Amino acid sequence: LTSGLESAWNKLKGEEVLTKENIVEPMREIRRALLEADVSLPVVRRFVQAVSDQAVGVGLIRGVKPDQQLVKIVHSELVKLMGGEVSELNFAKSGTSVILLAGLQGVGKTTVCAKLSFYLKKQGKSSMLVAADVYRPAAIDQLVILGEQVGVPVYTAGTEVKPSEIARRGLEEAKKKKMDVVIVDTAGRLQIDKSMMEELKEVKRALNPTEILLVVDAMTGQEAAALVTTFNLEIGITGAILTKLDGDSRGGAALSVREVSGKPIKLVGRGERMDDLEPFYPDRMAGRILGMGDVLSFVEKAQEVMKQEDAEELQKKIMSAKFDFNDFLKQTRSVARMGSMTRVMGMIPGMGKVTPAQIRDAEKSLKIMESMIEVMTTEEREKPELLAESPVRRKRIAKESGKTEQQVSQLVAQLFQMRIRMKNLMGVMEGQGGSIPAL
Ligand code: GDP
Ligand code: MG
Repeated sequence: LTSGLESAWNKLKGEEVLTKENIVEPMREIRRALLEADVSLPVVRRFVQAVSDQAVGVGLIRGVKPDQQLVKIVHSELVKLMGGEVSELNFAKSGTSVILLAGLQGVGKTTVCAKLSFYLKKQGKSSMLVAADVYRPAAIDQLVILGEQVGVPVYTAGTEVKPSEIARRGLEEAKKKKMDVVIVDTAGRLQIDKSMMEELKEVKRALNPTEILLVVDAMTGQEAAALVTTFNLEIGITGAILTKLDGDSRGGAALSVREVSGKPIKLVGRGERMDDLEPFYPDRMAGRILGMGDVLSFVEKAQEVMKQEDAEELQKKIMSAKFDFNDFLKQTRSVARMGSMTRVMGMIPGMGKVTPAQIRDAEKSLKIMESMIEVMTTEEREKPELLAESPVRRKRIAKESGKTEQQVSQLVAQLFQMRIRMKNLMGVMEGQGGSIPAL
């Protein structure tokens, strides 16, 4: 999916704004990428329409390229498609909450039982597991072993008792022990069949669960949509858990579940370890699908930090070469708010990766700059030329800020460099930016 979308953005290279015409090709690529990722056709159609509508008529954000803007729109539509917000687990108002897990064989139900109890434990909730998969003795042993591993009691009643009866007894036991949550593991089948659904319905009747969660293997792709629809119609699910996201899944399952069932993905599993279960964040998933989390946060931060008026004011100053130390300070501070300049640079594709050490260095040099600007007079701040021309002034600033003259000279040179760089960044190639004075 990621590489398919990559070519969508590439179609916009060199464009100035998004138009009805120039988004046709990228939208075709997006459509193809989604279909290839096993997202169902009606979902793809609605999605592409929603993105197109937004893309045309989106305003220009200074410093953000059209392809980056389209990434942002696709991202927010993906988030919407996956339900927008994080969907928390529901718990009973009082007494023991019941979580029933269902799903095909091998999707990770038994593993999820243990992971979930571990997850709840970290939130301070006690839980008990119930082994209601009676078809394979090994399944019971597996649950017992995993339960031991996470330090949670497991209720078993062998393979001779009906699953609904095991579930009922297990719930009794959990209530007696005043458990916050009881998690019931059920048997899966290789594919959906009537006996599995009947069995689940019986277990459901015996338990009156707070949550009925369908465990879905992320690798299932397109089939996930049909699976979720069927389970939801037959037994009525409250949500889904997507497992094996650490694998080589194409993302289609994550995109379809909500749209076809109206039910949210609540949790995701991304590994075989017991702590590999976490809430499902639609925005992070969208970022993962796009493989462009960095561009997204860059666009968001640029929007946030560079309010339109500020950007225009700044541009005027740059064009008239009036960018002074006050602006420099404002700029470096807002950049600091963005996480530091080098980090932002690292977010721009093609600028390369930045190491934590480089970030620390950048932050340190910001502090040094600030201390020098603080001791400048109002006049000096507004007319950097004064400092460029006068070694006496530079000497004074060095003394008052406790820095070397060389550092002051560097700062002044940097300001003039910044004038030029800002000019380029804004795409204002004509006009006077000034040269860097020799100090
Ligand atoms: P069940 O038949 O639905 O109960 O599935 P199991 O819980 O027995 O899991 C089947 C296999 O999938 C086991 O080998 C698990 O270790 C593995 N598994 C479960 N969840 C994950 C996951 O999130 N990532 C990976 N890589 N493997 C998983
Ligand atoms: Mg199992």
